[in-house]
Amino acid sequence: MTPMLQHLMARVQANGPMTIAEYMTEALLHPTFGYYTTRDPLGAAGDFTTAPEISQMFGEMIGLSLAQSWLDQGAPTPFTLAEPGPGRGTLMADILRATRAVPGFHDAMQLCLVEASPTLRASQQELLGTSPTWLHDLEQLPDQPLFLIANEFFDALPIHQFLRGATGWRERLVGLRDNALTIGLGPEQPRADLDHRLTDTVEGNIVETCPAAPALIQGIGGRIQAHGGAALIIDYGDWRSNGDTLQALRNHTPVDPLSNPGSADLTAHVDFEALANAAPCAHAPMTTQGMFLERLGITQRAQTLAQNLSGDALQNHISAHRRLTHPEEMGNLFKVLALFPKGTLPPPGCDT
Ligand code: SAH
Repeated sequence: MTPMLQHLMARVQANGPMTIAEYMTEALLHPTFGYYTTRDPLGAAGDFTTAPEISQMFGEMIGLSLAQSWLDQGAPTPFTLAEPGPGRGTLMADILRATRAVPGFHDAMQLCLVEASPTLRASQQELLGTSPTWLHDLEQLPDQPLFLIANEFFDALPIHQFLRGATGWRERLVGLRDNALTIGLGPEQPRADLDHRLTDTVEGNIVETCPAAPALIQGIGGRIQAHGGAALIIDYGDWRSNGDTLQALRNHTPVDPLSNPGSADLTAHVDFEALANAAPCAHAPMTTQGMFLERLGITQRAQTLAQNLSGDALQNHISAHRRLTHPEEMGNLFKVLALFPKGTLPPPGCDT
């Protein structure tokens, strides 16, 4: 038995069943045994691959969208360029390279990364070379224009799950049975925060909430509304959460979310409706990653890069373009929500 499993079982024995949110927080971020705290989970040798790890074009398109938005807002100086959950730093490295030629952008920029994992902070330092400021949470961002990218960050935030009953909702809890972790149910209760789900669910349906997400959006959107800026939130999910989307990945293969705490990645679909409703600034209509990247010119960029490639490198490049944009790959599953100040234009790539 792993130390993490021992720790979780002892916790249930002492305190009773825990929420799925508590389980996710422990499994992902426990200071000694947590999944993110102890390893670099990305890439072929890890458990999952993200868009920036597939191709440099992803970060290039995002860099251009954010830099154009900065220009459209009058090139405010100084401004914060922020990324929560930067992984290895690959996305930020591509953004910085793509924006180097934008006059004044780098001089005006203060780079802030929010990273919970010491292992990943070290990778970011190595890849970025420059000295970003690392923050513990987004609350610490300076009060100035904020241009922010979050890719596959919100899906790692802890969720709660509720099963609809005859007269209320029962929270799904992680407990113990036969000396193993198992899912059980809390008492049935009415929940005002789920009233809006009474019309689109029936008894037996599961819905998810992620209280940390709207709280973060209020902080990000409040800064953008007060000081200017824009945020691009990119993740897998949809306009409204539906059903049980908790997923664990190990070695690029789905596993039981309770079976490998601390050694499998845990994520859930992002409910973009909840994010949009929490924003104290304007937001563009949610769009798909495929449409967003196409509007920003990823195909032209792919053709330019292809001119210098041949053989396997060319085939990999073609399949990377397809993975990022094709509706049957990441193109439709991943969505983009852009935040920007009321009365200004959304960042390029979004619907207006
Ligand atoms: N954005 C990167 C990495 C995505 S993996 C990419 O696209 O490749 C998720 C990232 O979020 C990791 O860097 C992880 O350490 C970080 N993370 C997860 N939960 C976090 C939390 N609560 N606070 C800060 N960072 C967190």
